[in-house]
Amino acid sequence: MNAFSLFRLVYPPGGAAIKPGIENCDAGPYTRGMVRPAFSHVTQWVFDLDNTLYPPHMRLFDQIEVLMTQYVMQALGVERAEADRLRSQYWRDYGTTLAGLMAEHDLDPDPYLVAVHEVDMSHMEPDAQLAAYIRTLPGRRIVYTNGSAPYAERVLAARGLSGLFDAVYGVEHAGYRPKPERAAFEAIFARDGIDTAQAAMFEDDPRNLAAPHQMGMRTVHVAPEPHDADHIHHHTDDLTAFLSRLA
Ligand SMILES: [Mg+2]
Repeated sequence: MNAFSLFRLVYPPGGAAIKPGIENCDAGPYTRGMVRPAFSHVTQWVFDLDNTLYPPHMRLFDQIEVLMTQYVMQALGVERAEADRLRSQYWRDYGTTLAGLMAEHDLDPDPYLVAVHEVDMSHMEPDAQLAAYIRTLPGRRIVYTNGSAPYAERVLAARGLSGLFDAVYGVEHAGYRPKPERAAFEAIFARDGIDTAQAAMFEDDPRNLAAPHQMGMRTVHVAPEPHDADHIHHHTDDLTAFLSRLA
C-alpha cells in the first residue's frame, strides 16, 4: 500500500475522516478487510439483546418502558410523572430502573422482571441472514441482557435466533446487578468461563462497553448513530452487515 492509498483509506473522499482506532464499518469499501483481522483472536462472542439483536425500529423496549413506569407507579404509589422522573434518576444513578428500586426501596426483583417483560412480540420478524452470520462465528456465543433470561429466550425465538447461543444470561444471573457495573460483567463471565482477552462484546448502550473494554474485550457499538469514546473500537448501524465482514 502506498502513501496515497493509505491516505484514502483513512480519509475517504466525500466523507468525514475516520478517527484512527475507530472503524466506521458502514463507511464503504475503504474499511472492508480492516475489521476481520481485529477479531482474529476472538473465540467468545457476547451479545446484548434489546436494540442489539433486533433493530430499534421494532420498538420492543418502548413496551417495556411503559410496563416499568406502571410497575413503579403501583409499587411506590406515585403518579406517572413522578414514576418517570424516578426511572430516569435510577437509570442514571444505578444503570437500570430495577437496580434503583432494589437499592432505594428494597423491591423484590422477580415479580418485577415477570411483569415488565410481558410484551407483545407479534410484530417481530425473524432474521435468517443475521442467524446465518451468527452461526458462522467461531467458538462460544452467549447473550447477556439486563432483562431476564426467559424474556431473552422469547425474543430470540421471535427473531429466529433460538439455538444459536451456548447460553443466555439475564440480570438475575448477576445477582440482579446490572450492566454497566463491572461486577455484573465479572459475575456473568466467571459463570460462563469467558476469557475476556479472547472475547468481543456487541451492545447498543455505550455505557455497557466501558467495563468490557477495561477487561480487554473487543467492543462493537451497535446503534443508528456512532458514539465517540475511547472504549468503543467499532461502530455499526447494521449488525448483520458487520458480521458479514467477519465471515
Ligand atoms: Mg440493549
